[in-house]
Amino acid sequence: MAAKSNTRSESGKVRRVIVVGGGLAGLTTVIKLCEAGVPVDVFSLVPVKRSHSVCAQGGINASVNTKGEGDSPRVHLEETVYGGDFLANQAPVKGMADAAPGIVYMLDRMGVPFNRTAEGLLDFRRFGGTLFHRTAFAGATTGQQLLYALDEQVRRFETADVEDERGIVIPGEKMVRKFEFWDFLSVVQDDAGVARGIVAQDLKSMEIKAFPGDAVCLATGGPGIVFGRSTNSVINTGTAASSVYQQGACYANGECIQVHPTAIPGADKLRLISESARGEGGRVWVPKDPKEQRRGREVPEADRDYFLEAKYPGYGNLVPRDIASRELFLKCFHEGRGVFNAKTGANENEVYLDLTHLPKEALHKKLAGILEIYEKFVGEDPYENPMRVFPAVHYSMGGLWVDFERSADGGLVMGSPRNQATSISGLYAAGECEYQYHGANRLGANSLLSCIYGGMVTGPAMASYRKGMDKSSYDLSSSVFEKAEKRELAKYNAILKMDGKENPFKLHDEMAQMMLVDVTIERHNDKLDTVLAKIDEIDMRSRKVGVPDTSGRANQSAQFTRHLFNMIVLARVIAQGARNRDESRGAHFKPAFKDRNDEKFLRTTLAFHSDGGNAPNAVRFARDFDYALNGKTVNITDAVDISLVQPRARKYEQAGAASANAQGAAKKDGDKAAAPAATAT
Ligand SMILES: Cc1cc2nc3c(=O)[nH]c(=O)nc-3n(C[C@H](O)[C@H](O)[C@H](O)COP(=O)(O)OP(=O)(O)OC[C@H]3O[C@@H](n4cnc5c(N)ncnc54)[C@H](O)[C@@H]3O)c2cc1C
Repeated sequence: MAAKSNTRSESGKVRRVIVVGGGLAGLTTVIKLCEAGVPVDVFSLVPVKRSHSVCAQGGINASVNTKGEGDSPRVHLEETVYGGDFLANQAPVKGMADAAPGIVYMLDRMGVPFNRTAEGLLDFRRFGGTLFHRTAFAGATTGQQLLYALDEQVRRFETADVEDERGIVIPGEKMVRKFEFWDFLSVVQDDAGVARGIVAQDLKSMEIKAFPGDAVCLATGGPGIVFGRSTNSVINTGTAASSVYQQGACYANGECIQVHPTAIPGADKLRLISESARGEGGRVWVPKDPKEQRRGREVPEADRDYFLEAKYPGYGNLVPRDIASRELFLKCFHEGRGVFNAKTGANENEVYLDLTHLPKEALHKKLAGILEIYEKFVGEDPYENPMRVFPAVHYSMGGLWVDFERSADGGLVMGSPRNQATSISGLYAAGECEYQYHGANRLGANSLLSCIYGGMVTGPAMASYRKGMDKSSYDLSSSVFEKAEKRELAKYNAILKMDGKENPFKLHDEMAQMMLVDVTIERHNDKLDTVLAKIDEIDMRSRKVGVPDTSGRANQSAQFTRHLFNMIVLARVIAQGARNRDESRGAHFKPAFKDRNDEKFLRTTLAFHSDGGNAPNAVRFARDFDYALNGKTVNITDAVDISLVQPRARKYEQAGAASANAQGAAKKDGDKAAAPAATAT
């Protein structure tokens, strides 16, 4: 039997839900919840406007087809599943591709300053894995513009009053309450394991507190920091996803980690030079002579090897990222063809990304954001000199497992409580922290889209779930929350007391370096075995850390130590998943198993935490499992939904060869038939 009122619990309290994360996925979820009349508490480690989404550069995909190229949501769906090497469930991808044009128009109406054509239409650029102009962009700071637009909408709800079913204002209750600088620690679970709220820590006062919520959504972003320096922000440790995984949530396809081909070094992080640089005509090359010591701009055309254009004449510099990164790796690490760096006096594992042949004015209009970054951090003018770039860990296709309900037309049943539900009843996930939309390799500019679409799906799903609850979390005994709060307080106090010899920051460096070297572009089983043994060792050593700071306010060391514990757990899920998958698929590449093996591995990796005595933090992999939702049992298997586009081999090198455009510029209509995804059945 469903709870009597949607607004108030039996005990008269306003029934709120919780969203953890204020990036694009979190804010969209909040907006959709508010539109459905559901009051929300939002938690974020940082001010929501500093969420990692703010760093996104190149754009957001939508097959609006303003350039009359014949693009459509169907082609977008096909290219996304083809780019992801068929590991993505196709119903959610269809839902996303169908919704994309409407999402971009909605963002435009919200005031996002998208670049426009001379006629005033939205402009679209090319991105990897497609021959169409499908990416809407706001210069090279698209993420910032999108985040600020959504933030404005959420602020509106921060001032809106909660009304009851009769439309009467409930005094003192606003639709949105924001908790910034709070670290999510765990979900509060009742005796049946249902998520009933969260425990979080105020990062200024270090107070630990439990908050009730009728449902909880994690929108906490990716886990890039497991690999140390990456293109991600330093807060992207994956701690929240790891924490709920340890509480019983399934983690899916953890081994699918994307390495972006073009980044630059930095002491704190590796800064991305967006794919949009290639979308606007940037060319990747190395000198033909490995001993070449002239500066990039002094090397004549005849002495340059445009290796991506040569091997992939159709897609050229815009092959999907997994392929581009492997080709760069091959050139630098296996063939020793990395370019000469005058500052170090040696050949480095870098290639040139060259924009110097393009008109400065156009570059400034479309790419100024990233070109400024290059100039500031490398100290060279990218308008005059080819940029030196190398691959960096960028994105996780894997994440918390989430469900979906397929509609009759092959998309999603909007409003189904199954959509975006994790395997913990009452816990939802949206954005990069979940696994649903990108299979084994994400196409560029599809993430911002999946975050916003994911949020648009999650809000109504949580509202339905809340409607179907038999008892509000606000009517539970306070002991449920006190118990969870005490458990987290005890864990935190134990961290503060740790006075061992290991330094948590150094331990993280050690683990991250190993993950970076052996669990990214090329994976070898013997090395993965060594990594797994080493993770076990690091896990043991992490129990002997000495926390450098024991102060009672703004204690970053204790917080980092907690995140480290959670990162070690995720590292094992990623490495073990990679060890098990003896094939190559998308970003997961094993030279010893070069081909995709659909018979054995066209399956979602479903990982569960298992904490045995001799094997702490072990991973248990399942072929199927059951989870409960609004009193019903749902059975899940690892089969991938391939009902819309039949799997076939990925052959980007064969596409569009007849009409190669060496500078990766637009293809004309006739070329489309050559794109493998566009010819999909
Ligand atoms: C440099 C760069 C450029 C990119 N450019 C593009 C692009 O052009 N197009 C594209 O499609 N994709 C791009 N991406 C990918 C895309 O930006 C991200 O995948 C996406 O923004 C993730 O959004 P999100 O809402 O899932 O999470 P985030 O934006 O990362 O937000 C996570 C939120 O969760 C909060 N949080 C995390 N942990 C906790 C915790 N423990 N407690 C409380 N709160 C917590 C954070 O404070 C934050 O508010 C880019 C990525 C990078 C690194």
